[in-house]
Amino acid sequence: MSDPNCIFCNILTGDVPATVVDEDDRTIAFMDIAPATRGHALVIPRVHAPDLLSVDSEDLAAVAIASKRLAARAKERLGADGVNLLNSCGAAAWQTVFHFHVHVIPRYRDDPLRLPWVPGAGDPDEIAAAAQELARG
Ligand code: 5GP
Ligand code: ZN
Repeated sequence: MSDPNCIFCNILTGDVPATVVDEDDRTIAFMDIAPATRGHALVIPRVHAPDLLSVDSEDLAAVAIASKRLAARAKERLGADGVNLLNSCGAAAWQTVFHFHVHVIPRYRDDPLRLPWVPGAGDPDEIAAAAQELARG
């Protein structure tokens, strides 16, 4: 349910302060302490799960719905031009806090964020080979 060594579990219990902006039966959302842009929030399930691959499916659905709610508010109330939802699963994917969370990052036309990869044509054979491994069956 709760991990006493987890910073987000400690936010849930109130032992670590946070600026909560939304909550429901399964989730809470609070402001990121080091925001990427104005209004950057994090949505987490109340029940501790380290990452995307371990989170309960109903909690995952509830986090997605809460993230959509906050994305809409970012546009309506903060004047965001767009929103990124981001989840990092695993240290190799930049995850630093191992309590599943979705970043809701309001985007503004003139903000400094840039794609972390350079889009470019892929090798069709390599794309097909990866697809074969990923595809069902
Ligand atoms: P990750 O790197 O795991 O995707 O995201 C973790 C996020 O949690 C980071 O954006 C970081 O700024 C935020 N964070 C880490 N510790 C705290 C904290 O104590 N309070 C709040 N509000 N955010 C935190
Ligand atoms: Zn936790």
